[in-house]
Amino acid sequence: MIDESGCLDGNPTDDVRLVHVIEDATESDRRLDMEEPRHREAARYRQTPAGREVAVSDAVPTALILMYHRVADVSTDPHLLCVSPRRFAEQLEILRKHARPMRLHDLEQALSRGDVPPWAVVVTFDDGYADTLLDAKPLLERYDIPSTAFVTSGYLGSGGEFWWDELDRLVLGPKELPETPRIGVEGRLYEWSLGEAARYTEAAFRQHRGWDLEREEDPTPRQRLHRALHALILPLAEEERRDVLAQPRVQTGGSSPAGTSRRTLSSEEVVALAEGGLIEIGSHSVTHTWLPSLPTARQRDEIGRSKADLESVLGRPWRASRTR
Ligand SMILES: [Zn+2]
Repeated sequence: MIDESGCLDGNPTDDVRLVHVIEDATESDRRLDMEEPRHREAARYRQTPAGREVAVSDAVPTALILMYHRVADVSTDPHLLCVSPRRFAEQLEILRKHARPMRLHDLEQALSRGDVPPWAVVVTFDDGYADTLLDAKPLLERYDIPSTAFVTSGYLGSGGEFWWDELDRLVLGPKELPETPRIGVEGRLYEWSLGEAARYTEAAFRQHRGWDLEREEDPTPRQRLHRALHALILPLAEEERRDVLAQPRVQTGGSSPAGTSRRTLSSEEVVALAEGGLIEIGSHSVTHTWLPSLPTARQRDEIGRSKADLESVLGRPWRASRTR
């Protein structure tokens, strides 16, 4: 589960199961079915942008690692990253009453000793959204539940948003797009026909805002465009991703400021997150690039530099990393 370089690699073992937690528990169950081994490879990279797949082991696990991304009330969540504060509090209350919340490090030690307690659960957060500090931390403190927050170090202090959130805002927001947007990706020009959906009214936005990438159907050309661009951007390196996103930004007449609700953490906020010792910080690469798409040297750099940058922010070394 945790390799010699300190990476929690997301591979299932007989002992530990990783569960991506989303707002609706029945959806979580559906995901578990969907992510059988034979479906997993096909589904995981094309449809999931933020390392949010469920890694499933057939064996009954000894411990669960719950993977959260955001604790927020949102109007759209096409990547199913959000759990509302109310639902998160309910989940923590249940964990506190019925499970054994543990630190990741303590689970690792218990696994190596072979004495993991029943109902061992580790709460983790991926990516490094500001709401991990602003909304999740107070609730973790209320229920005294430890967690590990895996932070994407290259976004620290950018005040910006992750590429998948920008894509969501640019394509699924109630804003006019060209009728035939043309976007170049790695030297190829792609063109889409949006028709009526070029003008996406507030009413249409509200009607379809519950859509997510795991749905079989795309109700309008906007969702089709989002799905296509998402698949094209996902394997790209950071610089190329930004080049692609700049094109719809230009075509829609410039960028709106990033919504504060989904901005990334600043360095000061990472320090504040770790204060009190309930939340451990782990690294989550520098640019949140899909590592298999990068040459080995870049992969090592993404992993090593992220850890070093965060250690420098915190002023101390630590072990945990998560690479997806
Ligand atoms: Zn992630």
